[in-house]
Amino acid sequence: SNIVAIVGRPNVGKSTLFNRLLERREAIVDSTAGVTRDRHYGKSDWAGVDFTVIDTGGYDVGTEDVFEQEIRKQVQLAVDEATSIIFMVNVEEGLTDTDQEIYELLRKANKPLYLVVNKVDSSKEELPATEFYQLGVEKYYTLSSATGSGTGELLDDVVNDFPTTEYKDPFEGLPKITIAGRPNVGKSTMTNALLDVERNIVTDIAGTTRDSIQTLYNKFGHEFVLVDTAGMRRKSKVNEDLEFYSVMRSIRSIEYSDVVILMVDATLGWESQDMNIFGLAQKNRKGIVIVVNKWDLVEKETNTMRDFEAAIKHKIGQFTDIPILFVSALTKQRILKAVEMAMEVYEARSKKIKTSKLNEVMLPVFEALPPPAIKGKFVKIKYCVQLPTPSPQFVFFCNLPQYVKEPYKRFAENQLRKHFGFTGVPIEVYFRQK
Ligand code: GDP
Repeated sequence: SNIVAIVGRPNVGKSTLFNRLLERREAIVDSTAGVTRDRHYGKSDWAGVDFTVIDTGGYDVGTEDVFEQEIRKQVQLAVDEATSIIFMVNVEEGLTDTDQEIYELLRKANKPLYLVVNKVDSSKEELPATEFYQLGVEKYYTLSSATGSGTGELLDDVVNDFPTTEYKDPFEGLPKITIAGRPNVGKSTMTNALLDVERNIVTDIAGTTRDSIQTLYNKFGHEFVLVDTAGMRRKSKVNEDLEFYSVMRSIRSIEYSDVVILMVDATLGWESQDMNIFGLAQKNRKGIVIVVNKWDLVEKETNTMRDFEAAIKHKIGQFTDIPILFVSALTKQRILKAVEMAMEVYEARSKKIKTSKLNEVMLPVFEALPPPAIKGKFVKIKYCVQLPTPSPQFVFFCNLPQYVKEPYKRFAENQLRKHFGFTGVPIEVYFRQK
């Protein structure tokens, strides 16, 4: 989706605008597993057009000595990630040297850029605001933090200028795999290692989401596309330490993929950032393979691998039917295995069970162990189908769906997994009235 970044010196009023845009919507991406804790990006909409807003100033440190560096980060972030950039200045302080520097950097990005003069609360400030023409802009927008006026005109233009070209996926129908994980876990090393062992790469295509690269592989009898969010191979060091930057990337590449290889650092274990990515993949119903990297650095005893696996499964909650592999991207140990596993998960996720087969297997299971009766009433499951959705969803028709509680739904899911094999694939089950 389109991303609007708000850039400017500290205290010009970026967060006021940011909050106003977000008021219109509930906060942030979603509540899954802490992805939301960052209060500096969120979803908004104007005139029926959805977009994401980043308040790049969320990372203002505020002290003079890091000031310059922080602003550079902000600018870089906007330039890399945004569709459109709102550059905010403030009529109270007037045009400053820093404003001028930021503007110069932003201008070079060649993205729609909107100069917004904040704190123009009355007609008294209209005249002083004209000094911002010195930046060489044709037009600026005035905002009043006090009354909120001006936002509409600005957003009309921002939304109007969004690129309209519908993107045509050059790899439609091919498996899309992304390697996701926290910074420094080894994603680039793995990507490079795969490029290295893989001699049959057909093509690299830049596009889809602004700065991702897709590489088409055809090996192991499979064709697949590795979605490489920008900078994995040519990474911009500047922003790699910002968690939200990596979260933004994860969100985009996960949304575009079928299977997520979630890379975990063996030397650090399963951490909250891993859980965030796991939650994102699960919520988007993507296939998941967990790959524990840097296994070469771990001192192994008899049960090290088993214990590590158990610790992860303990932490990820209900959905534990997931392959976990131990690799070293550095020594290339088992990295092809990881890709093969991702392909297996892809196959499982695309699988459609024939209705006749499904009923033949599942109905006896339900008959042998029906949902517990409530107030003397018995639930009878009569029929099941798999929906024609990209990821597996099943509907069980019965007389009293409201009597089927969570534990039984989980039982049904586990039976589907047991009989049909959906390792690494989130599945949904619904009980409906016939
Ligand atoms: P990214 O931020 O996830 O792309 O991580 P990088 O691929 O840049 O890796 C971060 C650091 O970890 C680099 O210094 C790599 O050399 C190192 N690294 C990556 N994979 C492994 C591994 O399997 N074993 C060891 N020992 N180091 C690794």
